[in-house]
Amino acid sequence: MLKSVRRLVAVRSALKSISAVRHCSSTSPLEYHSKPLRFTQANMDVILLPALKDNYMYLIIDQATKECACVDPVEPEKVLNAVKEMGVKLTTLMTTHHHWDHAGGNKELVSKCPQLSVFGGDKQIDGLKENVVHGDEFKIGQLNVRCLHTPCHTTGHICYYVTAGEGEDPAVFTGDTLFIAGCGRFFEGTPENMKTALIDILGELPPKTKVYCGHEYTVNNLKFALSVEPKNQDMITKMAWAQTKRNENKPTIPSTIGDEFKFNPFMRVREASVMNYTGTSDPVETMGFLRKAKDKF
Ligand SMILES: [Zn+2]
Repeated sequence: MLKSVRRLVAVRSALKSISAVRHCSSTSPLEYHSKPLRFTQANMDVILLPALKDNYMYLIIDQATKECACVDPVEPEKVLNAVKEMGVKLTTLMTTHHHWDHAGGNKELVSKCPQLSVFGGDKQIDGLKENVVHGDEFKIGQLNVRCLHTPCHTTGHICYYVTAGEGEDPAVFTGDTLFIAGCGRFFEGTPENMKTALIDILGELPPKTKVYCGHEYTVNNLKFALSVEPKNQDMITKMAWAQTKRNENKPTIPSTIGDEFKFNPFMRVREASVMNYTGTSDPVETMGFLRKAKDKF
């Protein structure tokens, strides 16, 4: 099998100019909480677009057809500017869940581009056209997308698993289910739901799968992680790396599923070191304990 070659490059002049380009209705320059980034793989580009205070939107581009999808396009102006700058064709919106900071841009985008497909797993999602369930698949050009139902943060939360054939690392867009070194709050679900989502669904993806999540929470998540396992060398190393990135105003995205098992306490609920901290020998009880502790952290 061809070894995947992955390059991480800061977006060159095209994306640099995004912040300077204004939509016709805009009166102020666009602002980003981090630097936009472009991740180039063999057949697929992922453009990371910071939004609001700490959200991330993503463009997923099929290089063969230049067809493009956007995950959680809460700031339509930034999305449309990036689409224009990249010279790609936006056909699809992929919404992870109904919260406004993820789905809040759908209606405006559909009003401007009525032909857009809008995927999601919850009827509460603004502008929803395709109500998907676990295992549903669709295409972005030649890229394949599989919907993973991960109820807990919200009952209709969907993660999107994107594959592009041999030689390409898969990618999963996890919204507010899985963060780097953390997970979303259990607004509409139980510890058991999150254990299923993180361990039995996302945890079963290939370890090299890239994780693109919905918020920049990594440093705070690692502070909590280190309170659970102060001697975990992977957490210590990741924290130093993440702090350096944030000091440079750079995103800490993506990680991989394999790495999350090393430094994410919510992915480590079966580890003795984590269960010792929570005082139980049950992964689901451990999940519940960790979430309560994190909520108060
Ligand atoms: Zn949310």
